[in-house]
Amino acid sequence: MQPEAQPPFELLSRGLKHIGRRALDFILPPVCLRCRALVSDPQSLCAKCWTELKFLAEPLCACCGLPFPHALGEGVRCASCMARTPAFDKARAALAYDDISRDLILPLKHADRLEASGVFGRWMANAAAELIADADTVVPVPLHWRRLAKRRYNQAAVLAYAIAKKHKLRVDTASLQRPRTSISQGEMPSARARLKNVARAFTVADAQQERIRSRRILLVDDVLTTGATLNACAKALKRAGAASVSAVTLARVVRPLSPSL
Ligand SMILES: [Zn+2]
Ligand SMILES: [Zn+2]
Repeated sequence: MQPEAQPPFELLSRGLKHIGRRALDFILPPVCLRCRALVSDPQSLCAKCWTELKFLAEPLCACCGLPFPHALGEGVRCASCMARTPAFDKARAALAYDDISRDLILPLKHADRLEASGVFGRWMANAAAELIADADTVVPVPLHWRRLAKRRYNQAAVLAYAIAKKHKLRVDTASLQRPRTSISQGEMPSARARLKNVARAFTVADAQQERIRSRRILLVDDVLTTGATLNACAKALKRAGAASVSAVTLARVVRPLSPSL
């Protein structure tokens, strides 16, 4: 059978796009997202950075996603989740947080380099495939409005939209709020201080509770450090009546959650 003839306009537009991309590559050749070495495809990593990146995969704690050195059986939780069940049902992360992934994440946070969010969203969606199948609403961890005004965007929301778009999920950036100015978690001296800092930082306003009630929520953030932020968000969402709250981050520190969650 003959392939269907392409309308001339479509062929022309595809041709122009191809030429446009080639011309752009000539002027601004694609570079590795991490080390800026030349690569063949935009928004990709060079072979060296790619092999150094640690993607997290099973065996993992069934609850918080902490990687286990050996398979321990289905549904097994890490010691920290067994000692104290986190407020979120499950958490998963695409990458281990180390020097390599930090180089990818910091520009997303501070340097307005958002072009990589599509790639990051795909990695996160792969890590959280099971959680996405169970979710109907994506909620990014909010920034306080003052920090949002300074930075101009919330990197968690950028990642949330990247995941939701592909999986046709609703994004809710309004219901979970951060009314208190808390000091940046990165500036906190200890896990205990981080916990106190975020414990009551998040709320769902009364007027918004209806939007959260009975929803199956996927929380999104860039990094899981101690679990304190995700835990505080999950508590606020569950207080507002969410049916379930799971979480996905681009990276996580590979150590147990804070024991005092
Ligand atoms: Zn590289
Ligand atoms: Zn765990």
